[in-house]
Amino acid sequence: MSSSATDDNPRSVKRVAVIGAGVSGLAAAYKLKSHGVDVTVFEAEGRAGGRLRSVSRDGLIWDEGANTMTETEIEVKGLIDALGLQEKQQFPISQHKRYIVKNGAPVLVPTNPVALLKSKLLSAQSKIQVIFEPFLWKRSVSSNVCDENSEESVGGFFQRHFGKEVVDYLIDPFVGGTSATDPESLSMRHFFPELWNLEKRFGSVIAGAMQSKFFDKKEKTGENKTALKKNKHKRGSFSFQGGMQTLTDTLCKELGKENLKLNSKVLTLGYGHDESSSSPNWSITCVSNQSTQDIDAVIMTAPLCNLKDIKITKRRIPYPLSFLPEISYVPISIMVTAFRKENVKRPLEGFGVLVPSKERQNGLKTLGTLFSSMMFPDRAPSDFYLYTTFVGGTQNRELAQASTDELQKIVTSDLRKLLGAKGEPTFVNHIYWSKGFPLYGRNYGSVLEAIDKMEKDLPGFFIAGNHKGGLSVGKAISSGWQAADLVISYLNSASDKSA
Ligand code: FAD
Repeated sequence: MSSSATDDNPRSVKRVAVIGAGVSGLAAAYKLKSHGVDVTVFEAEGRAGGRLRSVSRDGLIWDEGANTMTETEIEVKGLIDALGLQEKQQFPISQHKRYIVKNGAPVLVPTNPVALLKSKLLSAQSKIQVIFEPFLWKRSVSSNVCDENSEESVGGFFQRHFGKEVVDYLIDPFVGGTSATDPESLSMRHFFPELWNLEKRFGSVIAGAMQSKFFDKKEKTGENKTALKKNKHKRGSFSFQGGMQTLTDTLCKELGKENLKLNSKVLTLGYGHDESSSSPNWSITCVSNQSTQDIDAVIMTAPLCNLKDIKITKRRIPYPLSFLPEISYVPISIMVTAFRKENVKRPLEGFGVLVPSKERQNGLKTLGTLFSSMMFPDRAPSDFYLYTTFVGGTQNRELAQASTDELQKIVTSDLRKLLGAKGEPTFVNHIYWSKGFPLYGRNYGSVLEAIDKMEKDLPGFFIAGNHKGGLSVGKAISSGWQAADLVISYLNSASDKSA
């Protein structure tokens, strides 16, 4: 990127800057590049991938951030196909075998109504409450669930529909395992928007889910049935050979080195800095190259807390971000451990085990453990089990920051109780994420309003990533993909106007 465009010599190829080389930024950049846009990704760190970080050492392969993803979002399948990554997709062995701890022991999570009836996870009373939810569910206390500003917690919502035990033994471990949060801290509207809308439309969650499934099926009858069948086996979670970073590595390769600037923390962004230009324009500077570079649009995917470090100007006047609320983040530690197989008395086949907060009364302190080498046997030598354990979260912020030694004791103690692991692990790796996940708390609406305001105030500026629309890898990809679409239509309409 060098000279600015003038009225006499408008650039035909548009230039776009993407801030952040996590999966959302890379997906956005890939889409822009395939539409012929000249795109540059600016990444603060010396590596790309963000929260997708895989390590291969001493015969072990582990992930330090996201471990698996799903194809729930349509953009994910499109991206994997376009990158030719189907060959490298790895589906966990027995992935539907997932466990939740009850009274100190792992219990298989029921995956169908018959299994639910037989399961020891819930009492008979809770089972009845689940089955008869269409008749027994209660309206929210304010009896105004249709109110757009209702910020009911996830816990409150599920308690009204299914009762307290379901919250304690299904919802609490689920939100703990997927976002290191707890049901009371999360906003139902922002964390589970689909279910929140289902209640608005149908009242009962179960009746609503069945009816919308029926409508979905009807809509799909016209679609290619063989294509649907072909993809059926692929439902569920997956990773890639070499770990999740294979996805971002492949995106980087497709993007090309010249389009990815590492060690390039963005310092300034200016909208409308060239007053002589008739078309909207942007400028950007970064640590590695402080001379101003001209661009036509920006996609911001770096965590929003980092936005305050970037000096933003609008027509050369500072654009203050005082309206952006303080965002709360969830700290989490990841402990990767390996045990000799002979030292694990009760290894469980399957995906992993989640620990409800209630189980602290039984001396358990971790959030959950993934059975990494059970899922993907190539992740460890055949005589070892590899585990990935999560500690911390909203309920245990201090523990997330504990030392490696202290965490090793906690993890070893939990794995002893749950799987019968003896002695000390032969391998330990500790990663601490001080800002693991943005917390979709009960005031998260104000963050989304601030995002909207920025996008309106600054034409050509788009925000993507896990601060809006969801926390998962799939949602991050989808938000990057959608931001790229918005940029493309913005650039087209800007060209039409200047023409
Ligand atoms: P990030 O990956 O955070 O990327 C943002 C990038 O911006 C970073 O590389 C950062 O260095 C860069 N940056 C910051 N400031 C600047 C600046 N000023 N200039 C330039 N660059 C900047 N999701 C799942 O679906 N499945 C899982 O199993 C799962 N497990 C997880 C486990 C952990 C421990 C964590 C932390 C997350 C997990 N997630 C999981 C969530 C998922 O990984 C993230 O939501 C997703 O990867 C976010 O991608 P992103 O591109 O939006 O952001």
